[in-house]
Amino acid sequence: MDTRLPEFPKIEIKRYIPELDILNNPIFNVKEKEFLAEFYEFMEENLEKDLQSLEELNYLAEEPIQEKKREIVINFMKKLAEKGYYSTVIDFDEHEVGNVTRNALIALALCGGFWSPNNDRYVNGNWSIEMGRLAGGTLYCNPVNYKANEYQKEKYLIPVIKNGLMAASAMTEFNAGSDIVRIETTLDEREDKIIANGKKLFITNGMLAENIILYGRLNSGRLGGIIVDTEHQQLKNFESTRVRTYGMNDAFVSRLVFDDTEIPKENILDGDGLDIMFHQLTEERLVISAEAIGDSIKKLFYSHSFALQREQFQHKLHQYQIIRFPIAQNIRQTNLFLSALLNYAREIDKRSQIASSKIMANQVMGLKIQTCELAFQSSIDLFRTMGGRAFSEQYCNQFGLHDAYCMVHGGGSHYVLEDAESRRLFRTKN
Ligand SMILES: Cc1cc2nc3c(=O)[nH]c(=O)nc-3n(C[C@H](O)[C@H](O)[C@H](O)COP(=O)(O)OP(=O)(O)OC[C@H]3O[C@@H](n4cnc5c(N)ncnc54)[C@H](O)[C@@H]3O)c2cc1C
Repeated sequence: MDTRLPEFPKIEIKRYIPELDILNNPIFNVKEKEFLAEFYEFMEENLEKDLQSLEELNYLAEEPIQEKKREIVINFMKKLAEKGYYSTVIDFDEHEVGNVTRNALIALALCGGFWSPNNDRYVNGNWSIEMGRLAGGTLYCNPVNYKANEYQKEKYLIPVIKNGLMAASAMTEFNAGSDIVRIETTLDEREDKIIANGKKLFITNGMLAENIILYGRLNSGRLGGIIVDTEHQQLKNFESTRVRTYGMNDAFVSRLVFDDTEIPKENILDGDGLDIMFHQLTEERLVISAEAIGDSIKKLFYSHSFALQREQFQHKLHQYQIIRFPIAQNIRQTNLFLSALLNYAREIDKRSQIASSKIMANQVMGLKIQTCELAFQSSIDLFRTMGGRAFSEQYCNQFGLHDAYCMVHGGGSHYVLEDAESRRLFRTKN
């Protein structure tokens, strides 16, 4: 059953907003714009139909849609990988734009969408698909690339990057959320194998993943990381199920159970699990910032369009300052964050060692908080502007209205991060 009301038309974005067009933004250099323009073309030609199919499936009630979505999402990552858009952690070809900047630009476009330079229309993005790309292409690939030996790289990293295999990173548990040090999953080291026991929660791609980087406690008591080959999700004593989320509809967020699961010992990554988890954090947060800025751009285009089209009390909505002001303010904020994003990404590309600097990590954390709060705020403003329509699935699906709520927690919950930040600022010696 299609849940759409025929009286509610799809909101078409008909008006270009030059302030939100990155190809029009003077702070991006020619190479970055060329990279983005190529990605836009690829997205319009090769991905837009899939994005529309996913949206259409979300309107159906009382019909099984999961299998259809699964196929679309898996193929989507393969298409991205063919062009090097899934993971950017290893350069197989020469690129004029650095790895981290490319990762951020892809996130920006895929999440938010863009004004098509060729066809004069808006191509809609999808944050939940980008979440899947981030989980597989960055949260899995970056730590594996950091610590894997040659055998592990050949077997578990290169095929993921080149063929776009679904992959996941499993940190969170029912008791260990923000407080990751509380991880209870055990990785019991026997002579030739590891036996994993524990449950993981909110794992993006978990039930689709071919490979998972699993964090747990080793016999020594310290945390470790190990690569799980799920054998096409048929691995014995391993179970994955979907967690129904509010927003992020196409991200296949999952609950995983390891119940005496056997994993070859050669899959264990060298080094400390906490170090492996935290190593990727600066890039992850930077890419989440790009996603949030992209999402804001999308929400702003929709608020702007609705305000231009909808009339109440004999005026178009945009004639009321209370509608107009937040849109203008959020556009201003979006552009400030875009310049910070680009500066950080370029610098990390130029001097990769600064990604491990504490100050850089803090600054990127700050950007992640502010950009996700902006995406959150832009969603709230779009909610207000849309009136009752905002509560219909019809528009929630089209705009991804709830997606921004998730990222106030993903990649580090804001309260936790802000509390830590403020404590650091006021730290005294005794
Ligand atoms: C859609 C989605 C996808 C996700 N994908 C993944 C994934 O792929 N892999 C993965 O491992 N995890 C994933 N997560 C999990 C995510 O990282 C956690 O939700 C997050 O770490 C928060 O943990 P929690 O939900 O247990 O909240 P809690 O830790 O219970 O926190 C609850 C609230 O208390 C606040 N709080 C907690 N501690 C403090 C403190 N010390 N000071 C101040 N405030 C505090 C938090 O900010 C939060 O507001 C995903 C989550 C979602 C929603």
